[in-house]
Amino acid sequence: MTYDVQRVREDFPILRQTVHGRPLVYLDNAATAQKPQSVIDTLVRYYTEENANIHRGVHLLSQRATQEYEDARAKVQRFLNAASTEEIVFVRGATEGINLVAQTYGRRHVGPGDEVVISAMEHHSNIVPWQMLCEEKGARLRVVPINDDGEILLDEYEKLLGPKTKFVSLVHVSNALGTINPVGEMIEMAHRRGVPVLVDGAQSVPHLGVDVRALDCDFFVFSGHKLYGPTGIGVLYGKRALLKAMPPWQGGGDMISSVTFEKTTYNTLPYKFEAGTPNIAGGIGLGAAIDYVNGLGVDAIAAHEHELLEYGTRELSKVPGLRLIGTARHKAGVLSFVLEGVHPHDIGTILDEEGVAIRTGHHCVQPVMQRFGIPATARASLGCYNTREEIDALTRALDRVAEVFG
Ligand code: PLP
Repeated sequence: MTYDVQRVREDFPILRQTVHGRPLVYLDNAATAQKPQSVIDTLVRYYTEENANIHRGVHLLSQRATQEYEDARAKVQRFLNAASTEEIVFVRGATEGINLVAQTYGRRHVGPGDEVVISAMEHHSNIVPWQMLCEEKGARLRVVPINDDGEILLDEYEKLLGPKTKFVSLVHVSNALGTINPVGEMIEMAHRRGVPVLVDGAQSVPHLGVDVRALDCDFFVFSGHKLYGPTGIGVLYGKRALLKAMPPWQGGGDMISSVTFEKTTYNTLPYKFEAGTPNIAGGIGLGAAIDYVNGLGVDAIAAHEHELLEYGTRELSKVPGLRLIGTARHKAGVLSFVLEGVHPHDIGTILDEEGVAIRTGHHCVQPVMQRFGIPATARASLGCYNTREEIDALTRALDRVAEVFG
């Protein structure tokens, strides 16, 4: 079956609007993706017909809400090919998932003189939690360098792995460069030395099929809102044995089995890590988003976006004075660029007047900007509903930038 992008677009009501009198061209999917009608309907239905607190109620609404929330967890489990729903912890997003691991596993296993390895293209959310941990413990953060195309230098990575390495945390797909990192191989290299690995899948889950058991990662995080789901919900996957041995993070309701003033015993997995009333609607909405993505087929989305990426790379390369930042051999749908003589923020403002929504700035990866010697980039990032015509609209709008600044 061919991928019918016009049909896909009809599922996203927000795309029907005009911006500054022009059709909206939404190319900011790496920041957050738009929501299909089925996800919006699920949220409305939940609040209209089912809203209740979960896990504790015997009444019908509570049971229904609990069932739907737990069904959503099972959808995530199948989506990632995790072994069990015990391995799927609902969190606020990728950021919270990484902080949870740093503050529990990290605090227990990283000590003075130890090392945590990350790459030079990590999002701030996969730098700062490890920096905080290293500061607290007197440990050292080691950073794997990248080349001018934005690819990780595997031989340098190999050299950094040593007896002091206690943890590795790597981004699967770079939000600023689009690079798809060889995380499978990198996990294997760490495991040969007995070092566990967290994969930040915030940008991979929406664009590639992810199989946590095939990758053999120890932890994996992603955010619902980049996968066409609601904001405020995300997932931490962890191997059961590791999660089981980890201390809880936040204390409160739902994460306990019994409480007295003398002693508290903790709930079973995954609830041990889910203190307090969770984002119930968000979890159920994420389940609907996974249904939607499965309906289109992750492979079909990936193929569509790859075709667009190649087209976009060709078209942008023709724009005078434009330099693409991030030219890795294996890339997902991110087109980061700078234009000679024009600040990225000015590009973003003029593009917005033309109805084209892109992101400009450091994209929460300031070290990548430093690596390339630039303050910021303009970034167009692709989703399942983008079209060649929208890439053409982007390049036309860039011609307008050239007229203004020419
Ligand atoms: N990791 C990467 C690669 C990202 O692109 C992002 C968000 O842009 C995050 C982590 C953090 O995601 P969130 O802000 O949803 O927690």
